[in-house]
Amino acid sequence: MVLDFGTGFSDGSDYYDSSVSPRGVNGAGDLFEFDLLPQIPGLYSEGALQNTDVEYVAPEFDAVVLSHYHSDHAGRIGYIDPTIPVYCGETTSLIHEAYSSSTGSPLRGHPIRKFRTGDKFTIGPMEFHPIHVDHSIPGAYGFVIHTSGGTMAYTGDFRFHGPAGSMTRDFVDQARREGTGLLLTEGTRVRPVDDAANMSETAVRKDAVKMVKGTKALVFSTFRGNDVDRVNTFFDACQETGRRLVVSMKVAALLEKLKADRGLRVPRVGKDVDVYLRRKKTGKFDDSDYYAWERPFIAKGLSARDIRKGQGEVFLHLEAWNFPELIDIKPDRGGTYIHAATEAFNEEGEREETVIRNWVEHVGFRYAQLHASGHAPGTEVGELVRGISAKKVVPIHTEYPELFRRFDRERSWVLEPPVRGEAVSMDS
Ligand SMILES: [Zn+2]
Ligand SMILES: [Zn+2]
Repeated sequence: MVLDFGTGFSDGSDYYDSSVSPRGVNGAGDLFEFDLLPQIPGLYSEGALQNTDVEYVAPEFDAVVLSHYHSDHAGRIGYIDPTIPVYCGETTSLIHEAYSSSTGSPLRGHPIRKFRTGDKFTIGPMEFHPIHVDHSIPGAYGFVIHTSGGTMAYTGDFRFHGPAGSMTRDFVDQARREGTGLLLTEGTRVRPVDDAANMSETAVRKDAVKMVKGTKALVFSTFRGNDVDRVNTFFDACQETGRRLVVSMKVAALLEKLKADRGLRVPRVGKDVDVYLRRKKTGKFDDSDYYAWERPFIAKGLSARDIRKGQGEVFLHLEAWNFPELIDIKPDRGGTYIHAATEAFNEEGEREETVIRNWVEHVGFRYAQLHASGHAPGTEVGELVRGISAKKVVPIHTEYPELFRRFDRERSWVLEPPVRGEAVSMDS
């Protein structure tokens, strides 16, 4: 069984970046070269291994269990043998379906086994209890896993300061109640100094309202379209300020799909939010210029010209790769740009930020940073660890596993930072 299978933190950025990419034809080989994927027999598909030195053997894994649909958890599942089923939450399976018909999904071809909170499923000798957690994408889960050697828990990615923070508390309570002995926890923001402002989603909405009220011209913003909390935050800010939220076709297609999830609040495409209509191919908005999944949005779409005409009434979601659309929109100077994403934390991020700032300056807009993280700050990770009170804690998804010692002044549990290629035992 594999628990999440995504891209690494730095994702091989020493060897690959936006200008140098692994070759598709070499499957997993270009990633094996730099140890960016482990060479595990019986895991990968024939296609992933066809041009590598690693020989294909029939699957020796019975499942991939996926906590949520972010690429650092799901992004490498495409290399795994497609006969191995993927267990994921119902919402994750809807996101997968939406992306399968638009830009593609790493889960494609795998049998999908869906679960919800309260379900139980067994994989070999292990019994899984999935429990929802709050994170920056809907359908995120942690797991309590009962094994013959004892009970362990895996947090997935989590936060307490989002709109559904109580779900993460449910996870902590249940993991404690079920007697978790070994805890695998993320610690993205467990850092020597956590200087990111700990904004809640509510605070993002309040600040966005202020910014929009103070702007007469266009407002445009970069944020992750699958962060449905953020879509709702800006939709609410638009309601309060009399603007229309305009999203890309990819986001529109996702929102349409997520309507099927009764547990989610999702704005309605065409009623609550509008869709931006990009020029493609002939540039004349012909049906044949667009993919089949895009065509339903053409008739109601707003073009660059429509946006320019109503620029004072629009809040436009525009990812950085779509910034050239601003050349067509030709917005009046004096608008506001909201960077509703993580601030740059490495060189590549800083270069991207410079490009964004240059565009914002070029159109004569004000640059604003406004973001609530998908991850709990270090202090709250400490609260989770103490709340579950496992005997052994294995920090993963963190650059500073040793810093977890600061959460255990009484030395009441064992800290075991993972070592590549070495097993972790249940006993302390
Ligand atoms: Zn995540
Ligand atoms: Zn993650």
